[in-house]
Amino acid sequence: MTQINFAAEPRHDWTLPQVEALFDLPFMELVFDAASVHRAAGFDPSEVQLSQLLSVKTGGCAENCGYCSQSAHFKTGLKAEKLMDADVVIAKAREARDGGAQRFCMGAAWRELKDRDLPRLAAMIGGVKALGLETCATLGMLTPDQARQLKDAGLDYYNHNLDTGPEYYGDVVTTRTYQDRLDTLAHVRDAGMSTCCGGIVGMGETRRDRASLLRQLANLPSHPDSLPINGLVPVSGTPLGDKVLKAGQIDSIEFVRTVAVARIVCPKSMVRLSAGRDDMSRELQALCFLAGANSIFVGGKLLTTPLPGQDEDSALFQDLDLRPMGVAKAVAPESVAAA
Ligand code: SF4
Repeated sequence: MTQINFAAEPRHDWTLPQVEALFDLPFMELVFDAASVHRAAGFDPSEVQLSQLLSVKTGGCAENCGYCSQSAHFKTGLKAEKLMDADVVIAKAREARDGGAQRFCMGAAWRELKDRDLPRLAAMIGGVKALGLETCATLGMLTPDQARQLKDAGLDYYNHNLDTGPEYYGDVVTTRTYQDRLDTLAHVRDAGMSTCCGGIVGMGETRRDRASLLRQLANLPSHPDSLPINGLVPVSGTPLGDKVLKAGQIDSIEFVRTVAVARIVCPKSMVRLSAGRDDMSRELQALCFLAGANSIFVGGKLLTTPLPGQDEDSALFQDLDLRPMGVAKAVAPESVAAA
């Protein structure tokens, strides 16, 4: 039996059998243990962080991630767009802040960042930060120097997902290696930025692959500050989307198990429900919060896939007695409309 560390001191020496043993725990025990770790790590279980993500450059990506509507390798009908002007992005960030978001993430569908785009990105990041928001970006692979320049521009977080465990990785993408991803994460850490790193479940992987992903995340030199768990939103025309549309989506209880294990192996990370939340029932989301998820994306859209709208999130928060992280307890529930 894997010993769970309820003192919530981060470990970096997980073995695959240990993580698989967590997945195999009786469901009630697993969720109870994850909820206990959530509290022991110092989180208030009534608080959920709100982040908003804007696609600042959509489509036409040179990578072949088999789930992605933005890859130029697949015919999904998505129209490619150029990098947005900084002023437009800053105006969207202001709306997000006024709607209650704490963090604003800027996503570009690129294989890697090009130096020529750095000045415009620096203007965006500086403008968003000046609004009092935490800044995050996901721009593909980075060199060490680019990571330093983004940090100097005011970037707090950099998102770069591992997507899946190394064993299933070759079934997901072949145009960049697992090591490429680990290298970019190292450059981000070395530049002094916080990392946002997670993966996608429901791509046809096995439970062992999910355990392997979480083991990789837990054994990084420092745990991701944010750990997004995405449920695949199958997009017709993408190889993994078509596969899942035929075979069916991941079982929802297995999704909750994944969230719970993420909470246990990365006790202090913000475990974020990301893509796929629009397909989840309110009850499933409640179970995920119980199992230690404490962050969500809001705003009706996540890059190119839908999210619940503000009214739905507001009602969910009210019914579950949740509040946006950073908002005082005395605030009336209506203010979650801001969520
Ligand atoms: S997931 Fe990102 S890197 Fe992969 S194809 Fe989509 S936009 Fe490109």
